[in-house]
Parts: sequence; structure tokens; C-alpha cells
Amino acid sequence: MLLTTIAGSLPKPSWLAKPETLWAPWQLSGEALAEAKRDAVLIALKEQEAAGIDIVTDGEQSRQHFVHGFLEQVEGIDFAKRVTIGIRANRYKAEVPTVVGPIRRKGPVHSDEVRFARAHTQKKLKFTIPGPMTIVDTIADEYYRDRRRLALEFARVINEEAQELAALGVDVLQLDEPAFNVYLDDVKTWGIETLHRATDGISCKTAVHICYGYGIKANIEWKQTLGSEWRQYEETFPLLAQSRIDQVSLECANSRVPLSLLGLLKGKDVLVGVIDVATNTIETPEQVAETLRKAMAFVAPDRLYPCTNCGMVPLARQVARGKLGALAAGAALVRKDLAR
Ligand code: ZN
Repeated sequence: MLLTTIAGSLPKPSWLAKPETLWAPWQLSGEALAEAKRDAVLIALKEQEAAGIDIVTDGEQSRQHFVHGFLEQVEGIDFAKRVTIGIRANRYKAEVPTVVGPIRRKGPVHSDEVRFARAHTQKKLKFTIPGPMTIVDTIADEYYRDRRRLALEFARVINEEAQELAALGVDVLQLDEPAFNVYLDDVKTWGIETLHRATDGISCKTAVHICYGYGIKANIEWKQTLGSEWRQYEETFPLLAQSRIDQVSLECANSRVPLSLLGLLKGKDVLVGVIDVATNTIETPEQVAETLRKAMAFVAPDRLYPCTNCGMVPLARQVARGKLGALAAGAALVRKDLAR
């Protein structure tokens, strides 16, 4: 009960990539880079285990960015043709590659990473892949020129990849869909459809992560425009409750999401964000426990997985380590209450 996990990413060591930076450039190349990534994965696994996290990830140590790491192995995308576009409804600018031809997976994308992580931890393993809508929102398209059609093409490619990763021993496959909190109408008309297509027939548990973004300036400013109550989830959760997705990962700590919205996810595992990734302040175990207790008014304890609000990649390593510890310690406090 109350098994802990993280949204996905952890900071990278400074010898691997520039610290506290999104899209951070690698510090090495060639075989030295490949080895450094593997070393970093070992550290990420070990630090989660040492903190007492139950369902671990590889910390996304092998990818430069959670979207583009996947796209590098997809044919039909020209990485030389980079353009700067406004993403997440123009909330911030990103330099993105361009779709120039039919989308096709060149071959396995993350298989080696999953094999490596699987071989080096006894814990349950979660692996994250960007969801179709979020990919479509983080790329320029000169070929399909139709967001739904492009999303369905990516869903097909994700599904091929996901089948392989599940067969390699991944326990939870998570699709990251921060775009679900931005394009609420698209979620209805094709977002759930593409999630289903991406996860169709997968043998492990499936999850979707929907958040209010990394703790970067553009997101913090955006949140200030969302009013006193953030009700985006109110539109998407009933759709997800009816979907075939097993788990939903959401933002809760220090957020203005009314907790009653969690009650809309009946029948699903709920990964409740009890760690704020937009601050360097490390939560106390008691603060984590407090958020969990409030969430338990709407989510049964056997359905509740204490988690982080979002990825921790932009944070300093010692901050992320502290937050991992607080997450595990806070969950332990509540488990103790429940055992009484
Ligand atoms: Zn997130």
C-alpha cells in the first residue's frame, strides 16, 4: 500500500550534462558518452533505492529531453531542420526538429536502456515515453499537416516500442502527456484515442502523466494566470476514468488543483504528486504525509501511489536527493497510521 514512485526524470551528474538545465548539452561523446549514461543510470537507480522508493525509473539519464530522446530514432524527422516554435499553446519557445516524411521507427529506441536498468535493480521498474499529443506539440510538421493524423502515426510507433519494452520486463509503461492540460478539446476528440492506440495490447501496467510542467520560469508564470482553482483535470479525468489506461500521474503538491477532482478517477491507480518540483525547498516528511492524508479523502489507499509532481531533471542533485527521501519518509508515516 502507498507504493512510492517518481514522475520519471532525475538531475544528471555534472560530468554527463550541464546541471540544472533543460535540453542540457552532453559533456562527452561517442563511447565515453554511452558509458557515462550507463554510469548515471546506476546512480539514479541506487539513489532511489537508498531513499526507499518502491517503483524506480532510470531517471531518464540517457536522453537529452523527454520528447526528443525518443524522436532521434524515428524516421521521417529531420533534426537538421530545426525551427523555433511556441509550444504548449505558445507558453514557451523551443527549438524543435521537423517532420518531413512518413513516420517510421528505425528500430528499437530504448531497449538497451531498459535491459540495462532491468538488470541492475530488483525493484519494480517504470519506464517513460512521451505521449502522442505531447510529441505533436513539440515538433514542427511539414508533411502530415494534421495534428490528429500525426498523433496517430506516433501512437503506432510508440506502440511498437512499448510492446518490446513490456516484454523486456518493464512493470509500468508511462506516457507523458503534459499537453493534455493545455488542449482540452483535443483530448476529447483524439487525445484518448491516440493514448489507446499507443498502449493497445501492452502486457504491463500503463500510466499517463499529466502535469503543469517543470519548475521553469515560463510554467511558474503560466500557473499564476490560471486563477485560484485549477480545474483542467475536471475535463480530462472522467475521460481517463473510462479509458483503458491503468494509472494516472498528476500534480498535487503546492498546486491549486481542488483535491475533490481526484475523485473523478474512480477505478484507476492515482499517482499523487506530493513533491513540488518548482522549488528548492525540501518538503518535510510531515508535509508529504499531510498532502497524502488529504488525497486519501478521494483516493483509496490501495489505489494511491505517492509520487512527484513532475520530473526533477532541472533541479540540483542534492535537492532531488532530499526530495526523494522526503517522499519515501512521508509515505512511511501514513503507512504507519494505516497499520494502527
Ligand atoms: Zn510533468
